[in-house]
Amino acid sequence: MASARVFALFGHPVAHSLSPVIHATAYATLGLPHSYTAVDVPTAGALVEAVDTLRVGAISGANVTLPHKQAVLAMCDEVHPSAADSGAANVLCRGEDGRITAHNTDASALAADIDAHWTDAPRGRAMIIGAGGAGLSAVAACRTLGFKVIVVTTRSWTSTESVMSSPQAERMRAMGALALPWPNPELEPSDRRSSQVLRMQWPELSKGATLVVQATSAGLHGGDPGEPVAECVPWELLGKGTLAYDVVYTPRMTPFLRAAVARGLRAEGGLGMLVRQAAEAIVLWTGQTPPLDVMRRAAESALDRGGHIV
Ligand code: NAP
Repeated sequence: MASARVFALFGHPVAHSLSPVIHATAYATLGLPHSYTAVDVPTAGALVEAVDTLRVGAISGANVTLPHKQAVLAMCDEVHPSAADSGAANVLCRGEDGRITAHNTDASALAADIDAHWTDAPRGRAMIIGAGGAGLSAVAACRTLGFKVIVVTTRSWTSTESVMSSPQAERMRAMGALALPWPNPELEPSDRRSSQVLRMQWPELSKGATLVVQATSAGLHGGDPGEPVAECVPWELLGKGTLAYDVVYTPRMTPFLRAAVARGLRAEGGLGMLVRQAAEAIVLWTGQTPPLDVMRRAAESALDRGGHIV
């Protein structure tokens, strides 16, 4: 029998996280005596202290979530290519010598979940809304999945100038994506002609796209409304084989997914991504592969019972 180990989630807020349920289910199913606890880490200073609990071995591994996925990289001893690639980490592994390596399982989990719902549509063009951590994971996932053209936009890119000067846009370009200004002029108008012309490329490039990823937090239960983001998608230009994927998983039917279903498109929420990133973390920490279906059912039951917002 393996000796009991403690794993943790660092983030803020974490009180309503689904991760403890998902991990507890996985360990119980694998017959492992391990436990998993959510630790509220409100500040960068508190994150340094939390990472130290891992460094000294008080815990055996950690997940990192909002708002620390990018800041935590500087606190680690090594950065695995998965985290270096997207500039964000969601898994910390502790070596026997106490050295900490940052990994990213969000991007591979998203790629695997999109792949699991894919049919035979060509992997030509993917449109991504959002350029935070989830947007970066989406670009990395699309690269893994072999999309030839990856187009990204986000709310704060209000003009050509803001796209050109944004470090996030620079990172997206370095990953091979095309960064475009926010297409919804009602939300963030710009008078510049160059911005208007570039903005028009979003609907133009959406024609024939076979994947649209909603990678913002809009539509999240208790957060900003998701309708304005759903309205950025020129749904009428998308073919029936298009997959609309929303990284948000609570509520399970978001405005983005509702709009996709109304146009007869295939639509999938982010619960599968959440479960898969947890499963990949467990493989890294324990070397054992947990059952995705059991973990997913546990997450769905917890969502049905209510109270889980992240
Ligand atoms: P983040 O780094 O803080 O980025 C947030 C993104 O959302 C930015 O692009 C931001 O745009 C955009 N945004 C926020 N509010 C918006 C609004 N009202 N309208 C339009 N855009 C808005 O967060 P993140 O890590 O990318 O996470 C984003 C979402 O993904 C969260 O809901 C998170 O729970 C979810 N997520 C899910 C999984 C999963 O496993 N399913 C994994 C990771 C994240 P600007 O910065 O341009 O304003």
